[in-house]
Amino acid sequence: MYDIIIIGAGPAGLTAALYALRANKKVLVLEAKTYGGQIVNASNVENYPGIKNISGFDFATNLYNQVKDLSGEIKFETVIRIDEDKKVITNKNEYNAKSIIIATGAENRKLNIEKESEYVGRGVSYCATCDGAFYKNKEVAIVGGGNTALEDAIYLSDIASKVYLIHRRDEFRGENKYLEEIKSKDNIELILNSSVTKLNGEDLLTSIEVTNKENETKTIEVSGLFIAVGQAPKNEIFSNIIELDNNGYIKSIDGVHTNKDGIYVAGDTRVKDLRQLTTAVSDGSIAATTAIKEMN
Ligand code: NAP
Repeated sequence: MYDIIIIGAGPAGLTAALYALRANKKVLVLEAKTYGGQIVNASNVENYPGIKNISGFDFATNLYNQVKDLSGEIKFETVIRIDEDKKVITNKNEYNAKSIIIATGAENRKLNIEKESEYVGRGVSYCATCDGAFYKNKEVAIVGGGNTALEDAIYLSDIASKVYLIHRRDEFRGENKYLEEIKSKDNIELILNSSVTKLNGEDLLTSIEVTNKENETKTIEVSGLFIAVGQAPKNEIFSNIIELDNNGYIKSIDGVHTNKDGIYVAGDTRVKDLRQLTTAVSDGSIAATTAIKEMN
């Protein structure tokens, strides 16, 4: 019987483990892939308070080692489901816990075009607030039509010299107030009814190809492409007992409580306004301390 089982070894899950281990609890972290979550893809983290600059991989590795140094138990197994009685079933074993913290994160939806993953960190980004500063006075493009893409366009227009906002339809899913602001900016150009179909460059991205509904293709020279076509949490396995919103995110009450006693949620996988490293570690620490406080 573990005191706390944490599902997911990203920043939220590992921070929860750190706090629970320091409180002398018996903790198991279960991770399907590798530790670190989405942050391992960030080439440079420059917005974490107190750390001027660190690679996402180094940040995640430091956090992982911090947990291991406290003799934290981390097993690389895929969780298949959790039962009402807080039994966690993986592809290899079954575990019982007094409390569970779900910290399974979310994945940025991909465009699924050729070389997309090769250019991550070399021109392709899924996070304008993380990587925007690298494109000061450069030309960039954003793809997407939701609030994230619209907000990214506004944010980047203050950094980059020129911003192309590319959307596959002629209507935006995002809110009109953002669109109005976009239209008032001289350096944002809308490219509608169009998709990004090709990425060009040698080591770094230098241009993208954009194809419209008439199948006409043009090349746009940009140093950065910000892909903001939504995120996808992977919480279907919990939907038997945990309440999800329409997008699959876990609904939380007061931040870290789920609808189920003794099961908590932390990080990107819950309904929240700001999905950042700072808010993930904040959730992790609150989830662990709350779980400990409420443990029977
Ligand atoms: P989203 O609302 O799901 O929008 C994703 C956008 O990407 C849609 O415009 C969609 O096009 C487009 N898209 C999806 N797959 C694509 C593909 N393969 N190729 C090209 N385009 C593709 O995602 P989001 O903008 O990340 O927002 C997620 C949630 O967070 C939303 O509920 C949003 O309102 C919320 N949010 C709120 C704020 C805020 O309130 N300040 C800020 C950011 C996000 P279609 O429209 O054609 O489907």
